[in-house]
Amino acid sequence: MVAGSERQDSSIEIVPIDLGPGVHAAFTTRDGGVSAGPWGGLDLATHVGDDPVAVAHNRGLVERWVGAPIAWADQVHGAEVFVVTAPPADRLAPVARADALVTGRIDVAVGVLVADCVPVLLADAAAGVVAALHAGRRGLVAGVVQSAVAAMRDLGAIPGRIRSMIGPSVCGACYEVPSAMRDEVARLVPAARAETSWGTPSLDLPGGVAAVLGACGVGEVQRLELCTLTDPRFFSHRRSARRSEPTGRFAGVIRLAGVSPRS
Ligand SMILES: [Zn+2]
Repeated sequence: MVAGSERQDSSIEIVPIDLGPGVHAAFTTRDGGVSAGPWGGLDLATHVGDDPVAVAHNRGLVERWVGAPIAWADQVHGAEVFVVTAPPADRLAPVARADALVTGRIDVAVGVLVADCVPVLLADAAAGVVAALHAGRRGLVAGVVQSAVAAMRDLGAIPGRIRSMIGPSVCGACYEVPSAMRDEVARLVPAARAETSWGTPSLDLPGGVAAVLGACGVGEVQRLELCTLTDPRFFSHRRSARRSEPTGRFAGVIRLAGVSPRS
């Protein structure tokens, strides 16, 4: 079990997150689901070569926990935000090409898929606005965090009231990059400048995301401090690539609701 996690369903393990009253939020792990091979077991992505039937089943397990259909995006490492105004018609079809999904609806959850990139869940419970965003290196530089907070404001959220959680992602001690790439990112996001545990240039993407959330005025910025590369309970693109294997994606999901999620 991951520290702080709970087995919510007979078949999946999640890390529940408190972002305010009436907000259901969690990060999934690999634990549970029906995917096989390198995607085993709770793979939630349709674009990584896994069996779509297994992915649909797995998504259904997470929907059962959160108590509503989940909207997923076709994530492209940009800064586009999509406002979800209705539950998705199809469990396997992305609702938009975007890297952040925002909603004020209670009948739909929003999700973000990751395997090393930074997933962030945000909520202004009083305004009734939630968001899930995907911030990899390119998205962070493109401004996806700022775009998502701006879209939440457009729906009535007040930044100082927003609570956020940065989920499992590759950490600054592990994410080695060429020196020039580190400089390029750090010019825009100085907090992302880091060194690996073996002393070479790296990027601290979750640290960079935290700094940008703070600069946007987000009232509460929390980090789970779980590293996907070193923690086998999460999918990691980099770890799998070392073995020349594909891998799955875990998720952050968030929903507004006044009732307890089903367990
Ligand atoms: Zn690490």
